[in-house]
Parts: sequence; C-alpha cells; structure tokens
Amino acid sequence: MTASSAAAAPRALALPDVSAASTALFLTATVLLAALAYYFLGYDQGAVSLFGDDTHIHEFVHDGRHFLGFPCH
Ligand SMILES: [Zn+2]
Repeated sequence: MTASSAAAAPRALALPDVSAASTALFLTATVLLAALAYYFLGYDQGAVSLFGDDTHIHEFVHDGRHFLGFPCH
C-alpha cells in the first residue's frame, strides 16, 4: 500500500454497540457494587455489622481499611 492509496481510502473506526439503556444498567451496577464495597470496607464494624457481632468481614478487609485511612481501632 502506497502513501497515496492509504490517504484516499476512508478507514472505519470500530465502535462498540452501546445503547443508553445498557450504559445506565452498567453504571447502576457499578455504583451499587462500589457502595457495597465502600460499606464493607469502611463502616461494617463488629457491633453494627450487617451480620450481627460477627467480625469476619471486618477482619477480612482490615488491612485495606487501614491502608485507605478509615478509622478502626
Ligand atoms: Zn484496625
């Protein structure tokens, strides 16, 4: 292919088929998952945990909690 033929041929850009509904669904799912992760990482303590006084989730995310600066102990 020469330089003149490359400049003459229009090149199509491959774009994904994204509709507004699928974008809204993807963004909603992302926000819900992020809020759930934020809750478990930052606010799920043993005494006020979703699962009662069980501290398994707290201990599981404990290092991440300290790394991100959430108050802990
Ligand atoms: Zn801690």
